[in-house]
Amino acid sequence: MLLIHDGETAAGAPTPRTGGVPLVPDGFVWPACRACEGAMQFLAHLPLDTGVLSVFFCQNDPGMCDDWDATAGANRAHLFFGDLTPATVPADGETLLGAVTALRLHPADEPTQEPVLGRLGGEPEWLQDDEFPDCPGCAGRMTFAAELEEGHDFATSANFGGGGRGYVFHCPPCSEAAFLWQR
Ligand SMILES: [Zn+2]
Ligand SMILES: [Zn+2]
Repeated sequence: MLLIHDGETAAGAPTPRTGGVPLVPDGFVWPACRACEGAMQFLAHLPLDTGVLSVFFCQNDPGMCDDWDATAGANRAHLFFGDLTPATVPADGETLLGAVTALRLHPADEPTQEPVLGRLGGEPEWLQDDEFPDCPGCAGRMTFAAELEEGHDFATSANFGGGGRGYVFHCPPCSEAAFLWQR
């Protein structure tokens, strides 16, 4: 399914979106960047059959923290289950995108006039080499879950280096998720 631009939505909407506030389980701790130790930026909320993918990456010092890398510690993806409530946003750091953008599911084989902001399922369309991450739980190759484009306008878009694309993976049996971007 394609994820297409569907206007603005509420910060805590339970539907697919980029930006806004993450919906999280009890005990959640907002991820901090391993490189700069700042609070990461919340990027996307993506409900799936297996749980909710919640993606963060560091934007405190763009280009300096290897936030494109799945394992450098400058991004974080979670697979959440159960009752989720809006997180408390840290006071410091580049934590939120400039807008909350609704993503509407649209069949990949049907034409659309709307801006395409990503895709759920299928296989990744790599801009560079294949970089399937290994699951930190079982060491198996993680399953591709979603792709995200930078966004539809500069004021609200994610920073994937200018024309890049984000990739989200998961391993539902291990409740693990991973993120990386390429350009
Ligand atoms: Zn950082
Ligand atoms: Zn696993």
